[in-house]
Amino acid sequence: MATTVSMGSLFTNPSYNMGFNTSALASHMLPHTTDTYWNAFGEISKQNIQLNYFERLWAAWYAFMGNDVLATGIMSFVMHEVVYFGRSLPWMIIDRIPAFNKYKIQNQKIPSAKEQWDCAKLVLISHFTVELPQIWFFHPMAQYVGMSTSVPFPSIWSMAYQIAIFFVLEDTWHYWMHRALHWGPLYKNIHKIHHQYSAPFGLAAEYASPIEVMILGLGTVFSPLLYCAITKDMHILTMYIWIMLRLFQAIDAHSGYEFPWSLHHFLPFWAGADHHDVHHEKFIGNYSSSFRWWDLALDTENSPEAMKRRREQRLAKARKAQ
Ligand SMILES: [Zn+2]
Ligand SMILES: [Zn+2]
Repeated sequence: MATTVSMGSLFTNPSYNMGFNTSALASHMLPHTTDTYWNAFGEISKQNIQLNYFERLWAAWYAFMGNDVLATGIMSFVMHEVVYFGRSLPWMIIDRIPAFNKYKIQNQKIPSAKEQWDCAKLVLISHFTVELPQIWFFHPMAQYVGMSTSVPFPSIWSMAYQIAIFFVLEDTWHYWMHRALHWGPLYKNIHKIHHQYSAPFGLAAEYASPIEVMILGLGTVFSPLLYCAITKDMHILTMYIWIMLRLFQAIDAHSGYEFPWSLHHFLPFWAGADHHDVHHEKFIGNYSSSFRWWDLALDTENSPEAMKRRREQRLAKARKAQ
């Protein structure tokens, strides 16, 4: 009987929107066996003309997989790899084009192909050993806090403001944890690996100890989980877009390039490579990830202006003491 019910009406029914099994529901709605992904897509398209193309692709994926944990796990892992290496590749090409050298912040230190390859190997090992199991456990946690996997998708506006909140939460977590990782014993045993490159490059964004990947990754993963647990209003697609943007942010901050069109020239509180490159060069200050406000507020900023400000404050103090 279930096959006569429109999948769309079930998907849009609010009572099905929280934490239900999308695959089971979606595959249940298919009248014929769906031996290929495109068969599932065809069936879902026929029955749910109100859904847009991407929503139908999404629903067909869950229906075809027949297992939500697998469907989310594979999609997340593939997305992470494609975005990570896809976003790093343009920086690797730019490193080989001499015309871009004038934009490189530490332009005496262009990474060699061997350095990049060694870095990629360690990053891949950590993706398969540390991140894959974490990604796998994500779906049950998302389900537990009531994250929706259904169609239709939420509005762009609701995704945008939620992602803005995650950026602020993650940046705060990152600031404090990263600052803690610079405390002697933690630095020596964990964070030192990430500082192997004093002139970073895109691929080096996740070049770090597995423990560090776990600690700093918590800010990225738990910010949305916490938000969803409180509001009960979040879609897993918002999570994907958030992870994608966060990867862009981390890779670009490690790129080592500062352009006249870099984002922080338009959004002065945005950190970017200009902020993080100094951290790798000097090992001190500029601990936050996306924004500059924590470093500014707690006087851990590392920039020529901040140095000048501190020098003047010291001089003023000395003058007063005389
Ligand atoms: Zn550091
Ligand atoms: Zn870094």
